[in-house]
Amino acid sequence: MNVLLIGGGGREHALAWALSASPLLDTLYCAPGNAGIADVAQCVDLKVDDHEAVVTFCKDKAIDLVVVGPEVPLVAGLTDTLTAAGIKCFGPSAAAAQLEGSKGFTKDLCRAIGIPTAAYARFDSADDAKAYAAQQPVPIVVKADGLAAGKGVIIAQTQAEALSAIDSLFTGNASGAEVVIEEFLTGEEASFFALVDGEHVLALATAQDHKRVGEGDQGPNTGGMGAYSPAPVMTDELITRTMDEIIKPTVAEMARRGTPFKGVLFAGLMITDEGPKLIEYNVRFGDPEAQVLMPRLTSDLLPALIASADGVLDRFDLRWHDTVALTVVLAANGYPGTPEKGSEIKGIDAASAIDGVTVFHAGTARDDTGRILANGGRVLNVTAVGKTVREAHDRAYEAVSCIDWPGGFCRSDIGWRSLARETS
Ligand code: ATP
Repeated sequence: MNVLLIGGGGREHALAWALSASPLLDTLYCAPGNAGIADVAQCVDLKVDDHEAVVTFCKDKAIDLVVVGPEVPLVAGLTDTLTAAGIKCFGPSAAAAQLEGSKGFTKDLCRAIGIPTAAYARFDSADDAKAYAAQQPVPIVVKADGLAAGKGVIIAQTQAEALSAIDSLFTGNASGAEVVIEEFLTGEEASFFALVDGEHVLALATAQDHKRVGEGDQGPNTGGMGAYSPAPVMTDELITRTMDEIIKPTVAEMARRGTPFKGVLFAGLMITDEGPKLIEYNVRFGDPEAQVLMPRLTSDLLPALIASADGVLDRFDLRWHDTVALTVVLAANGYPGTPEKGSEIKGIDAASAIDGVTVFHAGTARDDTGRILANGGRVLNVTAVGKTVREAHDRAYEAVSCIDWPGGFCRSDIGWRSLARETS
């Protein structure tokens, strides 16, 4: 089979790494890819927002399956265009991608069918939003409705902060002239991943990420500075409740509305005293969560993605290693503000040579002389597997110490919550 993977981050390197191991694969293309993906796929310079250009490429190269990594092309309807052209695609339609593309859409769906989530209200006027927020207890959560790459959520500790957050979302450049104001939930966060084929659901795995840039979960939010899988907080009972109370009703409702969901449904959960509550849906694998899911998967990923696209996931099962995977993100100095580009990174081969370690590339490029250079905010994902969180953690940080890159930094406490659990 010939497969085209869309994207060029650490998530796509992890997916490319898993797909390239499939005995079903002939050629793997990736648009645009990165310096690490180039080791396992042919990177192609394709304008992904030009959907017709993607169709033409797929026809030229006899692509059997397109796998879309990031959310933006999904919300923009790439799957719809490819499907209409007769090209098989893993990922939801634009209508189903609204589960990520509009927070208001998802909150309304939760309310309509009784999915546990934070109480909320939607506003398309700043004055109405401010009048409402002024009546609510703090902390309170203010969110831009549309995609904002993790930058559209403000946890306001005071009324004044809530009001200024509302003003900045309406006047700033965050996406959408609509906000959702939510009750602040307390508990431990976890991520839950399921494959969906429009009707059937196959639970994948759980993970926890580290969104803040600094040690001890301090500082501004990022795309994610590290993750591990599984998430110990997600007991079998909580997984069953998440499937029964959140995932399956969502999938059934999307089908009933005539917009069936296909692809990965990634639920961001808060585990509260009352049980799991949905914070948000994403409609694709997480980044960096894919980097800890893929190394734990023993089964072939490719037929599972095809089964999702074909609607036959009920005949499918996946096997997982009974291991822990942990990934440490190395980011360029300046991230999550303006990252410095162009610094040289050495030592990746030495890091990769450590038992159980895989280094996934994100924002990297190779220059004419073969040097690896930083070319983005999050640059490398140093991933290790182990029998315990401690083992995976120690291997990952041993590998990090092999990487010679003065132009970058990482958090030194990835996995702290899980390590504390393991030692208590
Ligand atoms: P991302 O794309 O980075 O996952 P996002 O911008 O889509 O995030 P959310 O996941 O909805 O936004 O929120 C980001 C973070 O804000 C959550 O991971 C959580 O830590 C916090 N958060 C969001 N909603 C709530 C809530 N109702 N109560 C408490 N914390 C919340």
